Amino acid sequence: MTHTTASRTTDLLAEVDQYSANNYHPLPVVIDRGDGVWVWDVEGNRYMDMLSAYSALNQGHGHPAILGAARAQLDKLTLTSRAFHNDQMGPFLRELCEATGFEQALPMNTGAEAVETAIKMVRKWGYQVKGVPADQAEIIVCDNNFHGRTTTVVGFSSEEQYKAGFGPFTPGFKLIPYGDADALSAAINENTVGFLFEPLQGEGGVVVPPEGFVARSRELCDKHGVALMADEIQTGLGRTGRLFCCDWESVRPDVLIVGKALGGGVYPVSAAIADSEYMSVFEPGDHGSTFGGNPLGAAVGRASLKVILDERLPERSDQLGSWFMEQLRAIDSPHVQEVRGKGLMIGVVIKESSGTARPFCEALDEKGVLAKETHHQVIRFAPPLTVTQEELEFALGKAREVLKA
Ligand SMILES: *Cc1c(COP(=O)(O)O)cnc(C)c1O
Repeated sequence: MTHTTASRTTDLLAEVDQYSANNYHPLPVVIDRGDGVWVWDVEGNRYMDMLSAYSALNQGHGHPAILGAARAQLDKLTLTSRAFHNDQMGPFLRELCEATGFEQALPMNTGAEAVETAIKMVRKWGYQVKGVPADQAEIIVCDNNFHGRTTTVVGFSSEEQYKAGFGPFTPGFKLIPYGDADALSAAINENTVGFLFEPLQGEGGVVVPPEGFVARSRELCDKHGVALMADEIQTGLGRTGRLFCCDWESVRPDVLIVGKALGGGVYPVSAAIADSEYMSVFEPGDHGSTFGGNPLGAAVGRASLKVILDERLPERSDQLGSWFMEQLRAIDSPHVQEVRGKGLMIGVVIKESSGTARPFCEALDEKGVLAKETHHQVIRFAPPLTVTQEELEFALGKAREVLKA
């Protein structure tokens, strides 16, 4: 697994450098093949994928059931637009509602679109059902949040870089410290329509809130007639060791936002899910998407969800995640401040005195483990949930070498 700066990689990196906007800082690996938890670069080197495309690949690369569903649907019908019906969207939404325990779902493509959908739904619910005066609706959000990259969504980010140069922003959002239920209580007023939060912050650095925060948020939202909006785009569909991270505190949100792994790493599929009390505010023409609910995406979504449930991936994530986290904590490293997470969503926090997490990720990459730093100090370990203990042992060996050095 020696890292060759062979010419094909060099050429491909130079091409991207010339033709792509410079909005990412990827590790210098060019991948051209994937299978399960493994990917190969253009030089033929094999790596274990410890990022899973930010949890969009919970089912692993090239899952045969998902590819099979996609191939079959490709040969039949791929796009109708919502101007007509297709035979895949209804079954997809029914299966999604049955799996999540909600009455209705509105299909979108990317996560950010599903978040926007949830915001529109809850605002209109606030005006129509709760009786908030026109244009006064407030949604409470958390410091260190990540809900996507649209102008409205970055407008309520607490990360300066996400916002700098992109204003003016949409009003109507209020920030509170993450995990602070007292702050939530204090921030709620008569115009508050929703509380939008991640039950575990992924992009924010794998931040686990204090135990009880989600349940207390539920109570406060119930007490004040506020919609609890859980962004489970990254934490959902088995990642944290439960089907949804809110399940850890037995909480059912009012609006559940899903994406990423709902498309099984094959196609972008997302949804805002809620009971009809909320969903019924939408009337024809209120909201839409050319590709949302398309038959290819719906067929892929059905197969992706079925794999999560049939292969009991939440249970796998719970068991293997607990074991892996224990093993990581047992590494005697001068660089590690903390290992935290739930299920197979694990962050290894590097001490500031040891520099940033980036060189550790680069060293892991050289040894055949693809991990990406998040929020400067955190190495994220989030392999496909189909990973085996033997495969995790491989990653663990490399992590030991890198963290002890
Ligand atoms: C990735 C992510 C999003 C945005 O999803 P996109 O598909 O990139 O638009 C929103 N919320 C959370 C918690 C995410 O992790």
